Amino acid sequence: MSEKIIYVVGTGPGREEGMTIEARKILSECDVLTGYNVYLDLLPEELKKKELISTPMRQEEKRCRMAFEEAAKGKKVAILSSGDAGIYGMASLMLEIGKEFPDIDVCVIPGVTAASSGAALLGAPVNHDFCTISLSDLLTPWETIEKRLRAAANGDFAMVLYNPSSHRRKDYLRKACEILLETLSPETACGYVRNIGREGLESGVMTLGELKDFEADMFTTVFIGNSCTRIERNRLITPRGYKI
Ligand code: SAH
Repeated sequence: MSEKIIYVVGTGPGREEGMTIEARKILSECDVLTGYNVYLDLLPEELKKKELISTPMRQEEKRCRMAFEEAAKGKKVAILSSGDAGIYGMASLMLEIGKEFPDIDVCVIPGVTAASSGAALLGAPVNHDFCTISLSDLLTPWETIEKRLRAAANGDFAMVLYNPSSHRRKDYLRKACEILLETLSPETACGYVRNIGREGLESGVMTLGELKDFEADMFTTVFIGNSCTRIERNRLITPRGYKI
């Protein structure tokens, strides 16, 4: 019997150029590609000729089970997750559900996460110790998010905020900034990137005081510097500490 396998593939921020060669190769070798319909739409035409199974957002569990059912038939299946599949992505859910399908191997393929692709566009905002925090309270209690924001501020970490806003949570970035401003200076250097690798790419730098009133959307990633981060020629620099 041939080995049954599902790949959980991080597809990078958007365009094919942002995919790793390994991810691209695995997608071309698979029979079935499953994912959120927005991400399937972004795929190169050649891959769209494969069997595609799309599900809307918030139906992640259903999508995972469908992927396992296809793999159980002996097809080579990939489940697509934007950025890196193991950073606010599908990797953990696939491994959890995978316990119900012991004869199917789950293989995670890394991708370029928004913290990396966004940082590159802004310069070098996370070139020292940093943490990522998601502001989505769909699966995490808001109290936990607040606790982590305070801990990151107290630790003088540079931060990357994922999921800074959605239709339902328009004021979350403001609430997060207010918490950070309990500890951090309003002059703290910050930035944002929107639609990395997609149509509508936009980025900018600002202070934490200004970020409080910034309107992010669900395709925005927000960067907050540490106490040494500075803005130079419209770029964010978090120094490693070299004496130059
Ligand atoms: N697994 C993804 C993150 C998914 S959570 C990754 O590793 O990048 C969704 C959040 O990721 C968005 O709200 C946004 O903050 C960020 N994000 C994902 N793709 C993005 C893109 N193309 N441009 C800007 N931010 C993005």
